[in-house]
Order: sequence, then C-alpha cells, then structure tokens
Amino acid sequence: MLLAGKSAVVTGSTSGIGLGIARALAEAGADIVLNGFGEAAAIEKLRSGLATEFGVRVTFSKADIAYADEVTDMIDTAESEFGHVDILVNNAGIQHTASIEAFPTDQWNLIIAINLSSNFHAIRAVLPSMRQRKWGRIINIASTHGLVASTGKGAYVAAKHGVIGLTKVVALETASTAITCNAICPGWVLTPLVQKQIDERAEREKISVDVAKADLLSEKQPSRQFATPEQIGAVVVFLCSEAAAQIRGAALPVDGGWTAQ
Ligand code: NAD
Repeated sequence: MLLAGKSAVVTGSTSGIGLGIARALAEAGADIVLNGFGEAAAIEKLRSGLATEFGVRVTFSKADIAYADEVTDMIDTAESEFGHVDILVNNAGIQHTASIEAFPTDQWNLIIAINLSSNFHAIRAVLPSMRQRKWGRIINIASTHGLVASTGKGAYVAAKHGVIGLTKVVALETASTAITCNAICPGWVLTPLVQKQIDERAEREKISVDVAKADLLSEKQPSRQFATPEQIGAVVVFLCSEAAAQIRGAALPVDGGWTAQ
C-alpha cells in the first residue's frame, strides 16, 4: 500500500472530482479527512462506506472553506485526530458565469475566497508540520482555466491562474525538502459543477441536454470525451509517489487536448 500510514485532507470531497480523489487515496491506504457540503446522512454513509471499503480511517470536516478560520480549524483538527497531515489536496471550487460588466461583486469575492484564498490558508496551516516530518504532498486542483481563458468566467479564470502562481511559489519555497507542490488542470469532467453549465446551455440554446453536452465537449476538448474523477484521483496518487518526487511546481493538464490547441 503506497500511502499506508499517511493521512490526507481533501477539500470539497463530498462530490465530483474531490470524491474521486478521496477514493483513490483511500484505496492507496491513506486515512482521509472528507470535507464539503451535503446532507448529513448522505455524508455519513459516504464516510463509513469509504472506511469499510478500504480499511482506512475516514473523518469528516464540515468546514466552509470560504472562511480562513474554518480552513485552519480543519487542518488543526485533522492533525490532532490523525497526528499529522501528509497530503493536502485543495480541490473545492465553485463557478459562476457572467460577463465582467454583469459579474456580481459578491460572486467574485466568493469565488476568489473558495477557489484561491482557501488554498493559501490550508497550505500555510499544513506546512509547518510537513516541514517537521520532512515529507509532504500538496496538490492543488486548478483547471485548464488556470492556463487559458474563456468568456464569462472572469473570477474563475483569475482564481485558477492564481492557484497556479501560488503552486509555483510553494514549490520553490519547499524545493530543498521532500515536500512537493503541484497543480492538476482538468478539462471538462462530468460533475455537478459542469452538469449545471450543460443544463444552462440546453435551456439558453433550446437544445437537448445530450446535444448541449456534445457541443460543450466539441467546442474545447479535442478528445470529445470527459476526463473522469477516477483519472484525476489516479494522477493525485501518482504525484504522491516517489516517482513524482522531483515534479515540483508543475501544472499538469488532464484535458483531452484542450490546452494543446
Ligand atoms: P462539484 O461541484 O462536483 O464539487 C465541489 C465540492 O466542493 C463539493 O463537495 C462541495 O460541497 C464542495 N464545496 C463547495 N463550496 C465549498 C465550501 N465553501 N467549503 C467546503 N466545500 C465546498 O465540483 P467538481 O467539478 O468536482 O470540482 C472540483 C474542483 O475541480 C473545483 O476546484 C473545480 O474548479 C475543479 N475543476 C472542475 C472541472 C470540471 O470539469 N468538473 C474542470 C476543471 C477544474
């Protein structure tokens, strides 16, 4: 078991990509802190199910990562429950689409807080003990929108470009240690976050959901296939391996060729 004895905090892991990452890390033997929103009973089912399926310890933090103090509390609690946090995956993120002139200021502030500032707060909280234990993996789930832009996504694109910048700084500041920091840049992954955009497109263009889905892919993603949460989870596990020890400050696309164009 590659990650037996290690523990991981995965933000936004009650759904979508984060859940795929939590499952992959648990399968590799890591204890997990789940985090995110959802109905209490469904989250408990998820938590106990993961623990039973993979024989690891799984706890849940209800931290709202829009708030710095809740992020730090989540890391402190994880450190006291498991004794250490070896792997931090900053995954939680939200989207809002509107042109710049029409972009609501409160949505801008929220996206920057959740998609960018939370990464800073969590990394800042976790680094001292990683340095003490002389090992760590920090993986930030950015996006193709950390590398290129699209219309209507001003806050998201700004936040994700920021995540990649932050990733590089942390990678440099830890370069002489066994702590690495990298970003993964998914293209389209079929999760609730993207389903909402597909449904909005179908409604706006008066087309079926299936046609909207095909249009969404063909517009950006040359493979015309979604990347999957399982594939992103497998890349996270790889970045935690010894083979990836000298991958530092990278922004790895998993995007069906989107950013090759
Ligand atoms: P999702 O909506 O399925 O899941 C988001 C998760 O974050 C959920 O567990 C939700 O409860 C949690 N969350 C949201 N706000 C939170 C908050 N304030 N505090 C704590 N948890 C919060 O979304 P997803 O598609 O799985 O996205 C996960 C990450 O991947 C995001 O950072 C997103 O930007 C990024 N991403 C997604 C895609 C895609 O195509 N789906 C592509 C590129 C990047």
